[in-house]
Amino acid sequence: MIYLGSHVGMSGKEMFLGSVKEALSYGANTFMVYTGAPQNSKRKPIEELRINEAKELMKENGIDRFIVHAPYIINLANSVNEATFNIGVETLISELNRTHAMGSEILVLHPGSSVGCEPEVGIAKVIEGLDIALSSTENVNVVLETMAGKGSEVGRTIDELKAIFDGVKDNSRLRICLDTCHLNDAGYDVVNGFDKIIEEIETKIGKNRIACAHINDSMNPLGAHKDRHANIGEGHIGLDALRYVVHHPALDNLPLCLETPYIKDSDNPKDSRAPYKEEILLLK
Ligand code: FE
Ligand code: FE
Ligand code: ZN
Repeated sequence: MIYLGSHVGMSGKEMFLGSVKEALSYGANTFMVYTGAPQNSKRKPIEELRINEAKELMKENGIDRFIVHAPYIINLANSVNEATFNIGVETLISELNRTHAMGSEILVLHPGSSVGCEPEVGIAKVIEGLDIALSSTENVNVVLETMAGKGSEVGRTIDELKAIFDGVKDNSRLRICLDTCHLNDAGYDVVNGFDKIIEEIETKIGKNRIACAHINDSMNPLGAHKDRHANIGEGHIGLDALRYVVHHPALDNLPLCLETPYIKDSDNPKDSRAPYKEEILLLK
């Protein structure tokens, strides 16, 4: 079965309950949420998220899986600044606990950026951080996202992700998240070679380790190392290829979420609206 949704907000009085309502308004049967602003680690206490009401509404509507995305400020690959690394590990542990309380098994994490150091140095640091976070928690999988390779991002190749899987002491709670825009920008041919990408994952990591995917078109051509998401069918990947991904057997039953940009109102450029309802219909 196909589980297709988008990222949704979590704010105001309704918090997580509002997230579920937003997903339902798009006709989605799954969704992705940040537990607060993606750029910082300030978080409301778990008791204020209205989790029980959200779970009730999900149950009524048959939503039984969704993604939580960790904030971008977590950078486990930072070998230069010990404080940044430590805050990253602490934040990751608290996000794993929040994700569990919210009822998901999936916490998506950007592996990080090696901030000018060699990728191997960054990867070693990611492994060190994951070892601490995984051994300090019992639930929820850390799901490493495939990155576009801008700057000194770690996780831009399947080999780099494999190095992390091979390096951690216990990888039983490690998974991966495919982002179609990031794969394209990293140089993986989503348009003509998605089967090959899946095969490579199968040989190096195991396709059973894929936990979810982000479905985005890309504003930039193959291998651009840019990471700018485009609306479905309006970028270099195109509708046919993205439809192929959404319906691919390797992603069956996994939550797939759009992270495409809001569409500006042509009459009033200050106004914009979510494209998700239409894009979900396009891809189904
Ligand atoms: Fe992401
Ligand atoms: Fe993504
Ligand atoms: Zn991105």
